[in-house]
Amino acid sequence: MESDAYLDDFRARGEEMAAACTRCGDCFRACPMTDPAGLGQADPSATAQGIVSLISGGEGTEDAVRWANVCTGSGNCIPACRYGINPRLMVQLARGFARRATGETPLSERWRGTFAGMSRGVRMLSRLQLPPETLARLTPSRAGTARRSPPEVVFYTGCNILKTPHIALLCLDILDRLGVDYEVMGGVGQCCGVYQYREGDFEANARIATATIDGLASAGSTTVLSWCPSCQIQIGELSLPNYEARFGMRPFDLNPFLVFLAERAEALGALMTRRVDKRVALHERPVLPEVNAAVRRLLAVVPGVELVEIDVPRVGTQANSLAVLPAFKRALVEKELAAVADAGVTTLATIYHACHRELCDAGEGRSFEIVNLMELLGEGLGLVSHDLYKRLKLMQDVDAIIVETAPRIAEHGLDLETVRDALLSEFAADRTAAPGPLQPDRRNRIDGFMAARTSRGADFAGRRAPAPKSRTTSFTNAATRL
Ligand code: SF4
Ligand code: SF4
Ligand code: SF4
Repeated sequence: MESDAYLDDFRARGEEMAAACTRCGDCFRACPMTDPAGLGQADPSATAQGIVSLISGGEGTEDAVRWANVCTGSGNCIPACRYGINPRLMVQLARGFARRATGETPLSERWRGTFAGMSRGVRMLSRLQLPPETLARLTPSRAGTARRSPPEVVFYTGCNILKTPHIALLCLDILDRLGVDYEVMGGVGQCCGVYQYREGDFEANARIATATIDGLASAGSTTVLSWCPSCQIQIGELSLPNYEARFGMRPFDLNPFLVFLAERAEALGALMTRRVDKRVALHERPVLPEVNAAVRRLLAVVPGVELVEIDVPRVGTQANSLAVLPAFKRALVEKELAAVADAGVTTLATIYHACHRELCDAGEGRSFEIVNLMELLGEGLGLVSHDLYKRLKLMQDVDAIIVETAPRIAEHGLDLETVRDALLSEFAADRTAAPGPLQPDRRNRIDGFMAARTSRGADFAGRRAPAPKSRTTSFTNAATRL
């Protein structure tokens, strides 16, 4: 009963957009994915009509389904629409309707594998990098907090930033420096439901998103800050309006964290204590133009930073969104890295966490470093937060990482095989050989290192991995791949 009602919410959103759409095709013309997806000859108006058909309960057209499946969330289509529609929402809603109408597998089983893989990866990667007391800063803090009044803001981490926790920790450190009263929420237990939405399981998406919105609202703040652009789109453009339509109220506004920070750029500038003499190019995404403007305001207050504009195509929500067209994705990255090298900058700064995960090691052997924007802000403020994700990735060997992170594995009581599987999924996605079982001699070495390091309370920061590479556990980093 409730599921049907949830589904009705999505149908209502579809019908509303279908009624307003003139099928002019301008959104299609503005989309950067059409040519790379082989839709260069498709008729824009007819393809838009196919999208309208899908969100109205119809079958759409082959071109419309293809377009919906390659949408990366760039948002170039939004300003192109003269009729007040958000075509990104329309196209992605059409993708869900198209997928739920095809295939034999029950909807609820289609996303379980990828969702479980993401959850495991977040749990393992965050624990391998942080001791429990530091990780506690990034876990929902409301339970057990005796507050007299609501926080000024909620910092909503989403899930995946926890794989690169140094970025999230810098966000919190900077809020602390600014004297902002905040609570942290997020993690895989407070997901937005994008995995379910993508597969067209709208009912599961609505249940998850409603629980997450209720959880975020429980802090009592009317301002929630999102780090992740996908969270911002999912909750800000889809779930909050659905929630408002259903319950007659919007418990909070969701705003990008970097926009909030840029509104305090002057105060942040006054807190800068160090020069950061770097020529910086940005690895940007078009997904939220206001974030790109905010980033420029923020870099302008870091003493010594010189921003160098790079003229390359910008596509997608984050790097992972382009996985639908791998050759196109690779060509974009190669073009960008070449342009960055030609510009003679010292630094390429990523903005979002998923881009950082993919690119962070690509500076090795090149004329520039790759860091996250938050590291530059932190450097100016004298804040230290090491990029341990990059460090692990550069080791290029899963067993070596396990040896290196043995103290964390022991502290968190992690299962070695689960850790190993998570690392292979995270770092060795390009591997051609299937991973073999952990070799006994290697396991003995790992157990030995774990025992020794745990007994002396060692920290893995600053150490080099002693384990040799093995064929089944090594992987290639981006610097070599690209
Ligand atoms: S969001 Fe981006 S990729 Fe999706 S339809 Fe709009 S322009 Fe195309
Ligand atoms: S969504 Fe807007 S731009 Fe796209 S076809 Fe409809 S009216 Fe035209
Ligand atoms: S979009 Fe945000 S909340 Fe949703 S799965 Fe991704 S990181 Fe998690």
